Amino acid sequence: MATKEASDEKIGPDSEKDELFIINKHRVPPGGYYFITETGFKIENSGLDGLKTKVAHYYEQNGIKKSPKEVDRSVENQVCERIPSEFCQGPPSAARKAKTFSEAMIKFAMSGFETVDEETYNQRFETCDSCEHYGPNGLFGLANCRLCGCYGLKLFLPSQTCPADKW
Ligand code: SF4
Repeated sequence: MATKEASDEKIGPDSEKDELFIINKHRVPPGGYYFITETGFKIENSGLDGLKTKVAHYYEQNGIKKSPKEVDRSVENQVCERIPSEFCQGPPSAARKAKTFSEAMIKFAMSGFETVDEETYNQRFETCDSCEHYGPNGLFGLANCRLCGCYGLKLFLPSQTCPADKW
């Protein structure tokens, strides 16, 4: 449902911070999920995916061309600007990736180079492969996780976890 919102709300889908991601879309942030369009309309939904669908529909109905990726980024950036920072994350910096990698390798060595069993690996792989945070974001267009920056090695390591609590 779209309603007119007060003019002092933060509006506009095209944020300077264009790389913020909601870590766990199944957690509802304080104030819930809503999006304020450029013209001040508030679009609400109980979940994030449904909100994106409604926003895409709103743009389509108003003759505004937006790709699914643009809608995705606009909604998540705007929501992330409003809700507590622990709900969102930006892409990891090169320094953070290096630190994360080093820590993972130390834990790997300390575990006696133990790896997960095949079933666990396959479950992790399938979860990542269908995850909205996984895509060709890495060096040379390689696919990796936008939240942790991992290219797949962590799938083998028992000490590793998904930053979005999916595995
Ligand atoms: S680790 Fe995998 S499942 Fe978790 S957020 Fe990254 S791509 Fe998604």
